[in-house]
Amino acid sequence: MLTGVQVVLAGGDARQLEVIRRLTELDAAVTITGFDRLDTPFTGVFKADWSPDILTEADALLLPAVGTDDEGIISAIFTDRELKVTDAHLAALPKKCKIYTGMATPFLKNLCEKHHLELVELFERDDVAIYNSIPTAEGAIMMAIQNTDITIHGSDCMVLGLGRTGLTLARTLQGLGAKIKAGVRREDSFARAFEMGFEPFYMPDLARQAGNIDLLFNTIPTMIVTAQVIAQLPLRACIIDLASKPGGTDFRFAEKRGIKALLAPGLPGIVAPKTAGRIIANSLTQIILEDKGQRGNEP
Ligand code: NAP
Repeated sequence: MLTGVQVVLAGGDARQLEVIRRLTELDAAVTITGFDRLDTPFTGVFKADWSPDILTEADALLLPAVGTDDEGIISAIFTDRELKVTDAHLAALPKKCKIYTGMATPFLKNLCEKHHLELVELFERDDVAIYNSIPTAEGAIMMAIQNTDITIHGSDCMVLGLGRTGLTLARTLQGLGAKIKAGVRREDSFARAFEMGFEPFYMPDLARQAGNIDLLFNTIPTMIVTAQVIAQLPLRACIIDLASKPGGTDFRFAEKRGIKALLAPGLPGIVAPKTAGRIIANSLTQIILEDKGQRGNEP
């Protein structure tokens, strides 16, 4: 149980509703800010304005999936008011307080460092990234279906990067009957791809492998689908870039060549906010419970 633990949730989208639900079930003291347009009633949850005053007793501050933008603005779909993280907010937090987010911008990282506050990027954790890969793969396939006139079954797909997202996506596409070419850079990834029945290739060979592809999914967060690669793709191909902004595709050149190329950020929150919220809630409560256990053992 999280009895006695004070958690402040600032902004976010439908995913945070699952987190609020879970925290209250576990008896945490929950304050929410940036939810004034929210109709769902949460019993025992305190609604407040985004002011440093609500942070002075906090054990945890939860920011949305992308913590803040480069100016400190917290995205918050349930309010019209602006929520901005400032020095005054972080200075008000007790030093024991941890700040949780999905991914942090340099702005948030620098501010936390300046105030000697621990920042936890939940999406960096392997378990969270692997759980999140499930709705991400489903969302990517949804986009593929919406943007092609062929079935996934029997299509020639290419997945770049067999990390946590790429592996789930490649396996799911294969389960639907697609033929998978997998672009990797390590020998062990090559062997794994082979073992899983994909057709692996090393990234320097990418342009040569691109000739007969219907769907190209990129998960590598660096410029990888270059003009040189796009020039080899057939005009029917569709590129779905899952890598974090700005993606790894030369979108300008794809447009010039008349190839559909889509950057698809934040899929878990779009296609499965409830599941995505539960993933965040599970991980957050687990970390807080572990910390609580550790603190409890301190002399
Ligand atoms: P990950 O586990 O680190 O996988 C990244 C993969 O890219 C790894 O296989 C890595 O190869 C490969 N890679 C990285 N740099 C490379 C390079 N220069 N050349 C060749 N391969 C390279 O990360 P992930 O969790 O799968 O996430 C991948 C991306 O998707 C991230 O940008 C993440 O933010 C994003 N993402 C997006 C969504 C969405 O909704 N669109 C959801 C989840 C994640 P090695 O294994 O050899 O290191």
